[in-house]
Amino acid sequence: MPPPIASSIAPPMRRITRHIIHCSASTFGDVAEIRRWHLARGWRDIGYHFVIRRDGEVEVGRMLPEIGAHCEGFNRDSIGTCLIGDQTFTEAQFTTLRRVHALLCQQFPGLTAHGHRDFNPHKTCPNFQVSTVLGKA
Ligand SMILES: [Zn+2]
Repeated sequence: MPPPIASSIAPPMRRITRHIIHCSASTFGDVAEIRRWHLARGWRDIGYHFVIRRDGEVEVGRMLPEIGAHCEGFNRDSIGTCLIGDQTFTEAQFTTLRRVHALLCQQFPGLTAHGHRDFNPHKTCPNFQVSTVLGKA
């Protein structure tokens, strides 16, 4: 297959070094809902790459080769994952987060995990200690 066609099918992956975790600050929602919120802000798509629902199911938001819109100043080399919830989260969500992070680590060796608040002292997002849930960052 000629290279131009191959590259149009598989766009180049960007360099990814961080996995940044968020919460929706809502007790409900999914990719469709958050996409509506973000489009209403005038964004071109949902800002997160993954959303983990209350039942622990993971949904795909923005495609990974695309830079997200979830952590100001740190979007270019990161993946954004949002857990639906405000102050509390389900064990199913944490189990899925561990699984998703492990898979991403296989794909992006050296990937580190962080909470949104680690990059913005004015935020409490995701309202839980990521290192406690995932083990060491
Ligand atoms: Zn956040």
